[in-house]
Amino acid sequence: MRLNIAMDGPVGAGKSTVADAVARRLGILHLDTGAMYRALGLKALRTGTDTGNEQAVTALCRGLDLDVRYSEGGQVTLLDGEDVSALIRTQEVGMAASDVSRFSEVRKMMVRRQQELAAATDMLVDGRDICTTVLPNAPVKVYLTASSEERARRRWAEMRQKGLPDTYEEVLKAVVDRDRQDMNRKVEPLRQAEDAVLVDSTDMTFDQVVEAIVKLAEEKIHGESGK
Ligand code: C5P
Repeated sequence: MRLNIAMDGPVGAGKSTVADAVARRLGILHLDTGAMYRALGLKALRTGTDTGNEQAVTALCRGLDLDVRYSEGGQVTLLDGEDVSALIRTQEVGMAASDVSRFSEVRKMMVRRQQELAAATDMLVDGRDICTTVLPNAPVKVYLTASSEERARRRWAEMRQKGLPDTYEEVLKAVVDRDRQDMNRKVEPLRQAEDAVLVDSTDMTFDQVVEAIVKLAEEKIHGESGK
């Protein structure tokens, strides 16, 4: 059986870094699906496409030259052959990603590509709709969250390290705005799947979160092989 781990959660829950660490511990790849929507968001910004125009964004997505590769350092996201892995990390691109991800045809195209990638190899996939839509039959499903204040605090600390000028209040507002948009959109809003295990990391250290998820996966792997 393919070892697919599905992980969802709101912005700033630490999904990407936790997912990276868990995947490395288990010796599997990590697919950050947010990077795919971010690449589309970046493409829209670069081409001056209105991120609220469903037809234009859908057409842009249809012709998108997007590739996901893996190097020593993990996932490399290529847009038009260019490595945009670092460029897509800004708040502006994050909001553009959230805008373009509302459209159903866009989601269908992205979901299909994510399913193909996950079918080809053992993989931990993180995003917003992985447990509910992309990999509903994944053997391990996790919903990782934390309070919005804690998520903003972590994100702000991360941004300060990178020398980005945003204030805590600005980051908190961005977190709350993006939650609202992701949880209230018509198509596949962010929600915890009924069978996903809730991991609330508000009062947990990074290592504790990684450990908890590795344990869930290992229980599943050993449980299956013990049958
Ligand atoms: O996780 P990340 O912040 O990189 O995601 C950027 C945006 O892409 C999210 O705010 C969300 O709107 C969208 N997204 C999504 N479905 C996914 C992953 C990300 O709609 N599976």
